Amino acid sequence: AAKEAGKNQVVEFSPGMREFRLHYAQLAAGLQVALAGDALTVLYQPIVDLACGRPVALEALLRWRGADGRFVPPGQFIPVAEDIGVVSAIGDQVLRDACAQAARWFDRHQVAVSVNVSGRQLVLPDFADTVLGHLVTAGLPPQALILEITETVLVGPTGPAKDIAYDGLAALRRHGVRIAVDDFGTGYSSLSYLHRLPIDILKIDQTFTGALDSTEEREAALVGAILALGTSLAVPTIAEGVETPRQAALLRAMNCPMAQGYHFARPGTTSEITDYLAGTAPRRAPSVPS
Ligand code: C2E
Ligand code: MG
Ligand code: MG
Ligand code: MG
Repeated sequence: AAKEAGKNQVVEFSPGMREFRLHYAQLAAGLQVALAGDALTVLYQPIVDLACGRPVALEALLRWRGADGRFVPPGQFIPVAEDIGVVSAIGDQVLRDACAQAARWFDRHQVAVSVNVSGRQLVLPDFADTVLGHLVTAGLPPQALILEITETVLVGPTGPAKDIAYDGLAALRRHGVRIAVDDFGTGYSSLSYLHRLPIDILKIDQTFTGALDSTEEREAALVGAILALGTSLAVPTIAEGVETPRQAALLRAMNCPMAQGYHFARPGTTSEITDYLAGTAPRRAPSVPS
């Protein structure tokens, strides 16, 4: 029986690998083309003040319209972009576009923009200068920019690359740029490092927000624990992936200051967000496919 199972595994594994490699090669080739052309666009998703529901920031979320016109999700192509060494170029494009767009929104509505940064970008020695350059070009005050960095990247192994990254972040923070830990709670379980991190905001991962609906009290209690942690470190929190009125109400009752999710607004195009900010769109819009 064991032998049979082994055979089956091999039979199932090979086509899978071939498919994966094909898919990967297509993505890699397509990305090079996308970078040169205009297939990469940025959508923006509101982050709201939970107490009043008003937008305080917009997260820039990258989209790639593939040759067939459909969106390839960033979770699929960002890892490939990192692999083939184009993620910095892509990330720089996102930062430049987001700063330029945010300057218009900031003037009218005093909202910040929040941009995801890859670990590969962060370790470039000129990263901080590049960011400051984009701010100056766009005329966006540093206080209106948030950089989102995942927990794993912030905490990862120490070494020269990490020193460069931390020096860069420190320089940016001195100018007033804020640093948010993205997907907080999914990376490292040890909390001992937290107070040493150069951070200004914690983004509670959507798995914890989703757990608020769990009938398991202990699971639902995790959000409360993270909120308490944020309070004791004096670091404000954003709950990600809020999808239901009940989740929003629970978070509000726990004094979570900010939230983001389909319940408030889906990621939208520049013009949809412009309408949303002007208050001309209904509260739940934009509704572009995410
Ligand atoms: P993230 O930074 O944690 O972004 C939040 C993700 O959750 C986004 O997925 C967003 O569309 C999705 N989301 C928002 N509200 C809800 C909700 O209520 N329910 C659910 N189920 N999902 C919700 P998206 O846009 O597919 O992005 C996935 C990840 O790709 C991001 O996770 C981020 O890590 C990465 N990413 C996106 N844009 C960029 C970029 O410009 N540069 C880099 N390096 N990474 C990016
Ligand atoms: Mg993010
Ligand atoms: Mg996140
Ligand atoms: Mg995520």
